[in-house]
Amino acid sequence: MFNRRKFLQSSLFASTGWVMKDHLSPILKKTTVNKPIVISTWNFGKAANAGAWEILSKQGRALDAVEAGVKIPEADPKNHSIGYGGLPDRDGHVTLDACIMDEKSNCGSVMCLEHVTHAISVARLVMEKTPHIILAGEGALQFALANGFKKENLLTPESEKIWKDWLKTAKYEPVINIENKVYDSNGKPLMPGGPYNHDTIGMLALDSSGNMSGACTTSGMAFKMRGRVGDSPVIGAGLFVDNEVGGATSTGVGEEVIRIVGSHLVVELMRQGVGPEEACKKAVERIVSRDPEKAKTLQVGFLALKNDGTYGAYCIQKGFNYAVHSGTEEKIYDSESWFK
Ligand code: ASP
Repeated sequence: MFNRRKFLQSSLFASTGWVMKDHLSPILKKTTVNKPIVISTWNFGKAANAGAWEILSKQGRALDAVEAGVKIPEADPKNHSIGYGGLPDRDGHVTLDACIMDEKSNCGSVMCLEHVTHAISVARLVMEKTPHIILAGEGALQFALANGFKKENLLTPESEKIWKDWLKTAKYEPVINIENKVYDSNGKPLMPGGPYNHDTIGMLALDSSGNMSGACTTSGMAFKMRGRVGDSPVIGAGLFVDNEVGGATSTGVGEEVIRIVGSHLVVELMRQGVGPEEACKKAVERIVSRDPEKAKTLQVGFLALKNDGTYGAYCIQKGFNYAVHSGTEEKIYDSESWFK
């Protein structure tokens, strides 16, 4: 609702160069480009954004910023859903999915990559050094090793313990917002530190030259079937960038995102003039309307950045949040949700 207070807020922000979420900035959208700016999924996106900001604030390139940004959670052993320390598949293998896309629609992706923490950097090399877009499994690993990456064990003792505890019941039941949250046989959460370890990092950045890039990286669903690949490394599903319009990324149950080619859908809606939050909402609606009963049991969140620096998000269930870093704000926002 556009009430007087919001009008005053958006007028004030317009005059000071602030750009807000799309529903607050109808005037601004036409007049100001909010750049540089970086946004990313979940609250751990805050640290990742800070890494990206180091580059963006020095007039660096969005592509370099998103790679540097998502490498932060990739290297964090406490983050059990991305990179090193990610939870394994049901057979104990940590397999990573990642993709990257730049302002010229160049893109690269790795699927089911093992033994390399920085899957995003391998994806970038696929983009820059091969005639291909996707390398998967053993071939992706071979390519990484040939390009100087070291073979590592990504299964940390903590992740291994969580997996071994999970094996006692081997119940495969993704939990909304907390796909990696698992319980022991007494119903106690096994995840050290509590139920706040989330999913994928998807990041979108607009640099001071007005160019946009995106990156998306994950260890996927905990205890997935061997070989399972989610939406995150699928260009158009987990990530899509079109410099003429903007970018989008997703998190949550990847199978549902792939079905609707979610991030591409969000960008195409923005191309038609739909605001970022509304575009994310329409993508969520597409998932919910296909199977309303199933939708009650799962989470998907979309995050979008337009090339004027306005942004927005929408998810199925409450609980999805995202981090924003620009010249004027460094914040975490709760996303609006379909089910309230
Ligand atoms: N989208 C990821 C996948 O399906 C996981 C997630 O974000 O929860 O692999």
